[in-house]
Amino acid sequence: MTAGASTAPPAAAVPFTVLDAGDPELMAELMTTVERVALDSAFTLGAEVERFEREFAAYCGTGTAVGVSSGTSALALTLTALGLGPGDEAIVPANSFVATAEAVSATGATPRLVDVDEETELLTAELCEPAIRPRTRCVIPVHLRGRTVELDPLLALCRERGVAVVSDACQAHGARYRDRPVGSYGDAACFSFYPTKNLGAWGDGGAVVTDDEWLAERVRSLRSHGEGRRRNRHETVAGTDRLHALQAAILSVKLRRLDDCTARRRSAAAELRAALAESAVGLPAAPDTHGDHVFHLFSVRSRARDALRDHLAGERVATAVHYPTPIHLQPAYRALGLGPGSLPASERLARESLSLPLFPTISAAQIERVATAVSSFGR
Ligand SMILES: *Cc1c(COP(=O)(O)O)cnc(C)c1O
Repeated sequence: MTAGASTAPPAAAVPFTVLDAGDPELMAELMTTVERVALDSAFTLGAEVERFEREFAAYCGTGTAVGVSSGTSALALTLTALGLGPGDEAIVPANSFVATAEAVSATGATPRLVDVDEETELLTAELCEPAIRPRTRCVIPVHLRGRTVELDPLLALCRERGVAVVSDACQAHGARYRDRPVGSYGDAACFSFYPTKNLGAWGDGGAVVTDDEWLAERVRSLRSHGEGRRRNRHETVAGTDRLHALQAAILSVKLRRLDDCTARRRSAAAELRAALAESAVGLPAAPDTHGDHVFHLFSVRSRARDALRDHLAGERVATAVHYPTPIHLQPAYRALGLGPGSLPASERLARESLSLPLFPTISAAQIERVATAVSSFGR
């Protein structure tokens, strides 16, 4: 091309995700909210946290929600409240974020890592059953990427064996199973409000939702120095794991928009799926008959994942890998003694999975750019 010839400007890069700053109207409302809470100066528990807890419990179809400092602490405090401790085991899928296992370890119990179903990428009752042993106290189904675990067989198995079920719903805000929100099943469900999650705060936050008022009361005590209903009376040795009032106020505003955001994620996922139907990548499995998918992540599969990722970076399409190393191969869990090859489906997913850009404000043009870039790989 000769110097000075007119060329079209390069298309803008497609970011992996866009948070609240991409929505000016929402930002204005959130800034007003932050100012109101700051002027009130009631930062610790109190009315903002209680209001969000009521709203989130109603949204999840549970009797109670308890706001805590993160998704990890939601899981850890729930397991502690259920009485897990040294010598106990909890079943965790190896194809998850490391926090699911960390929460078990935080109680002194041991995570028993099991493989996942290759197609759905999730835990199943069949995979769980052989791992249940006399000291198994809990199973933690992880609704990874926003796709729900097939819960009916799992709940039946755990009921029969006297094992608790605590959902890790940190990627599944708003997902439903049968006719109810996924958080309303089992003993409790745990959510994260990490900024990039489908319901994200401006920092860390989390919640436990449950119908078990006794369990909720224990978690409430554990999040704040083991204090019981009586002020200054500390029933157990605990710590500081409260949801911040500023985060609660922000989350109340964003909860009102969550269903709309989920609908936009679903329609973007449907467009992406259609546009990639002829491409060489493996597409996410459709939900089970009773299940749901809220597309926290839209992850495809490729044997040439790393080369595909480089190709997309060259096309200025941002991607991410969730997660490059399954939990059992992390150095932190070396002591469990599960080497390479022990949980093959989780290991293949770690090698082949690639998450594409998908967020509520993604445009049709951005979706088309992603699909074109993926389809041109290897051509
Ligand atoms: C984000 C996440 C967590 C942990 O949540 P934090 O708020 O970051 O502590 C746990 N499990 C899964 C599946 C997650 O995605």
